[in-house]
Amino acid sequence: MKFEGIHHITAITADAPGNVEFYTGTLGLRMVKKSVNQDDPTVYHLFYGDEAGSPGADLTFFEYPGAAPGKAGAGMVHRIVWRVASQEALDFWHERLSARGGPSELTDYSLLLADPEGLEHELVVSAAEDEPLSAHSPEIPGEYALQGFEGVRAYSNAPALSEDLLGETLGFKRVQGELWEVRGDRRGSFYAYDPAPPEINRSQGAGTVHHVAFGANMDDLEAWRLRVATAGARPTPVIDRFYFRSVYFREPSGVLFEMATIGPGFAVDEDEQHLGERLSLPPDFEPLRAQLENTLTPLPYPPSWRLAASG
Ligand code: ZN
Repeated sequence: MKFEGIHHITAITADAPGNVEFYTGTLGLRMVKKSVNQDDPTVYHLFYGDEAGSPGADLTFFEYPGAAPGKAGAGMVHRIVWRVASQEALDFWHERLSARGGPSELTDYSLLLADPEGLEHELVVSAAEDEPLSAHSPEIPGEYALQGFEGVRAYSNAPALSEDLLGETLGFKRVQGELWEVRGDRRGSFYAYDPAPPEINRSQGAGTVHHVAFGANMDDLEAWRLRVATAGARPTPVIDRFYFRSVYFREPSGVLFEMATIGPGFAVDEDEQHLGERLSLPPDFEPLRAQLENTLTPLPYPPSWRLAASG
């Protein structure tokens, strides 16, 4: 039993329209599902990814309107690391982000940037041979597009507490220091710890990561749940998230983990050609559609070029 790397990452936004503008406009991701928070259907749950909405490139946001800006601290993921194909791609993104007035910093091997709410991203030239997972955008040449997740970096002041769970229970492989690889038959990602900044600043608000999910084969989810429970990590029951099934638990450093199944996927309730173009509601919420469509903030999506292309 192995995880197929990171399945998705979920973060928080206080500004859904601005979030759509940045992730689909500036970063050129595709919105692969426009849905609502299954625990509070009056606010969005937005999903961005590659053209197919593949596990491995899926970044999602809960909309918390009016949420104060958060700050990552101990027990939180503080940086999302994406793959690109080349040094030229890093240069392209550095120029593009600078032209758009966003912060970005080119280092010898990566580009650091933040979204408009301060969520940190890093682009790296990846040595992984996994299939690149990219979206189409008329403004981003295909060879420069983001290619899915390389990994995430979390803050912990006591990473040794997580060693047994990561290494023994979850099958992560230590690469060096506090850098772990999570690799299955098809793809992999890294999970790494950095020392936390002072605890006093920590808050889970806009621009912070809520949880990170690892990809489980459908038939393995119950067995994973049992294994995590046996290790003492107190997993939730299996929850049907409609696009995948999920189990959540907190790893000892405090980071909220999810194990999410590879499938059924985002094409379960809409044509792959038209992913994310209309509001998708799990069946239980369908009776609320008219009311929700009236109260949810209008979003700048889909762009006209996508409608023209998908017909
Ligand atoms: Zn999730």
